[in-house]
Amino acid sequence: MALADKDRIFTNLYGFQDWGLKAAQMRGDWDNTKDIIARGNDAIIDEMKASGLRGRGGAGFPTGLKWSFMPKESKDGRPSFLVINADESEPGSCKDREIIRHDPHKLIEGALIAGFAMRARAAYIYIRGEYIREAQTLQAAIDEAYAAGLIGKNASGTGYDFDVFMHRGAGAYICGEETAMIESLEGKKGQPRLKPPFPAGAGLYGCPTTVNNVESIAVVPTILRRGASWFAGFGREGNAGTKLFQISGHVDKPCVVEEEMSIPFKELIERHCGGISGGWDNLLAVIPGGSSVPLVPAAEIMDAPMDFDGLKAVGSGLGTAAVIVMDKSTDIVRAISRLSYFYKHESCGQCTPCREGTGWMWRMMERLRTGDAEIEEIDMLQQVTKQVEGHTICALGDAAAWPIQGLIKHFRPELERRIHEHNAQFAEAAE
Ligand code: NAD
Ligand code: SF4
Repeated sequence: MALADKDRIFTNLYGFQDWGLKAAQMRGDWDNTKDIIARGNDAIIDEMKASGLRGRGGAGFPTGLKWSFMPKESKDGRPSFLVINADESEPGSCKDREIIRHDPHKLIEGALIAGFAMRARAAYIYIRGEYIREAQTLQAAIDEAYAAGLIGKNASGTGYDFDVFMHRGAGAYICGEETAMIESLEGKKGQPRLKPPFPAGAGLYGCPTTVNNVESIAVVPTILRRGASWFAGFGREGNAGTKLFQISGHVDKPCVVEEEMSIPFKELIERHCGGISGGWDNLLAVIPGGSSVPLVPAAEIMDAPMDFDGLKAVGSGLGTAAVIVMDKSTDIVRAISRLSYFYKHESCGQCTPCREGTGWMWRMMERLRTGDAEIEEIDMLQQVTKQVEGHTICALGDAAAWPIQGLIKHFRPELERRIHEHNAQFAEAAE
């Protein structure tokens, strides 16, 4: 069953209405926020735990649980902070952009409620540098919220003081990694820190900090208004709620759409994208969760539930739910090689397996793309990915390794075909 309009959280996702405060209030935003806050910090966190919301930035860590790691008492007078990750840079991902463009007040209200629940002094929204117009909209929405007394001193008449600051990134993918983001906010080079300690222990300026994705925070007010059981009623156990899917590539109608979690892949595409270009027989493979997760061949993805467990079962992941659809016209080796280049380019260079490995992997991928390689090099490349995976400070190393592993697993015959063809051409030319 498709998600009914009455159950959509993002009621202005396509910008048919104004994003401004008045229009947002007409849609139900900022409605009795004071009453939600009056429930108390722990009650809000318990409700979020009961909702089953898992982080929407890609990793899927339970949101309420993450909030509960924040200290209840300030140590040495140190404040706590909420950092909202709007540095949406994962290839294929563009959902947070739509929220900020058309529904920014959901994010700001969510920041206040989440910040209050975690006893935070302020929220920093770190927005990717390329989102220029979105940053203007967001800042204007923040200004409106201040002017209306919704945030700032005595926010929404609650007696609680809470500031919201927007910070623009400067175009580095790695600043989307939460500890690199914290370094960048502190004015340093955006390089990930070793974890643990996790940010709740030592985050921004050494203070307790929680980093949450835009979508994770923007759904908070609606969950608390409609109740945890309403949200948990969508999807299935461990995969609750509604979700923004971003579908691009070879579909008739690429789109961002809010749907129920666990909707099967084929139904998602039929319902919202008008099917695959050239028909279902023309589908080659899908990257279902943004470029950091392995591709899935057509036959295996068709009935897969689009959620954390369903996509794990087919050897991939939900990630950011950026669904990249590739039909049979795709040069799949070139596509993955291009992703390898992306990770090589975006590596911060701090740890050797990633700094050296991403370059190695890209160069080997390029040789496999042209077929100018030996058959044994396919296994060698696989071994290199295993040397990078799990041996780096942050997840970028894994993200660079997994797409290649997916390619080798599912498209080895294509890699071998290219090498044989190249060798045959070479032999012919030599005769
Ligand atoms: P992670 O699993 O290390 O952490 C996820 C979150 O849970 C973090 O906030 C972390 O602090 C917290 N956490 C995990 N274990 C914890 C523990 N034991 N105690 C306290 N807190 C804990 O993943 P990550 O490196 O933050 O994110 C990786 C994901 O990011 C990838 O799966 C990818 O899909 C996604 N990603 C998204 C984008 C984007 O543009 N949205 C870009 C790149 C990557
Ligand atoms: Fe930097 Fe790569 Fe190491 Fe992450 S894995 S810290 S991006 S070098």
